[in-house]
Amino acid sequence: MENSLITNIQKYSIHDGEGTRTTVFFKGCPLSCKWCHNPETQSYKKGLLFYAERCTGCRACMEECPQDAVSVKDGKVFTEAGRCTGCETCIDICVNNAREISGKTYGIQELTTELQKDQIFYETSHGGVTLSGGEVLARDLDYVENLMKCLKRRGIRINVDTCGAVPWQAIERVLPYTDVFLFDTKVMESEKHRFYTGRDNKEILENLEKLSAAGVGIWIRIPVVGGVNDSEEEIKLIGEFLRDKRIRAEQVNLLPYHNTGSGKYGRVGMEYEGKDFYTPDEAEMKLLQKTLQNYINYPVYIGG
Ligand code: SF4
Ligand code: SF4
Repeated sequence: MENSLITNIQKYSIHDGEGTRTTVFFKGCPLSCKWCHNPETQSYKKGLLFYAERCTGCRACMEECPQDAVSVKDGKVFTEAGRCTGCETCIDICVNNAREISGKTYGIQELTTELQKDQIFYETSHGGVTLSGGEVLARDLDYVENLMKCLKRRGIRINVDTCGAVPWQAIERVLPYTDVFLFDTKVMESEKHRFYTGRDNKEILENLEKLSAAGVGIWIRIPVVGGVNDSEEEIKLIGEFLRDKRIRAEQVNLLPYHNTGSGKYGRVGMEYEGKDFYTPDEAEMKLLQKTLQNYINYPVYIGG
């Protein structure tokens, strides 16, 4: 397959590795974290983004939708995500621009050309491209590998931002082209992990061990979500795992939760389940940083 679905190409990103980067968000993820900032990337298919605040209720989309995916509920226009095929018929029909399609296909050459436009910024800042999502390693691996080869031939450094919930073979395939893996570690207790993300963490932790043994660059990223994993006990469990399994990484980033993605849920027809989550304050983050640092000899940063 030559094309892959992408929701966004974010330029001048400074949070997905070293230097100035362009981050590519691929569509589709094996996890469904309740705090996900990019719910539009969870589905593997094209999907509709609906801006309710722009909708006047004219019902033109409803009349033209070939899938009968649009209806009116309690006086409001509603699109059934399961029926919508992303055919785009309703996009031009809506004169109020209340409807958009999330997910665009790019050929490898087309995407490489787009990413190469900022090569000068990558070179002057030791930056590069970050492949993210969703989960890039859950997409078509022929596509991903060929894209990475094209970028490498042009001297572009590549980070892979992964949730780790993929077969080891997928990670192994991109190892030769990856400068740094940004590897998420969320919760150590497996059933708790399943509750908050939809899957247990067995495969994820095994993959982290294998990656560490492979000797590649790893930045471990821990989203610290108030009410989920912001206690010292939770962070100690992660620290014990990293210490006992002798995980070698370049650094750990503790990323405080924020709810900026919550507004997107309504647009994709999903319900935000993180209403009780909160942002840990600075003092709490510093305590967790100090706690985790006791277990490992590479630096623990807040943010990044
Ligand atoms: S066409 Fe646009 S404005 Fe009219 S009902 Fe559909 S979304 Fe709302
Ligand atoms: S994208 Fe196509 S299937 Fe989806 S709501 Fe619009 S017209 Fe219907």
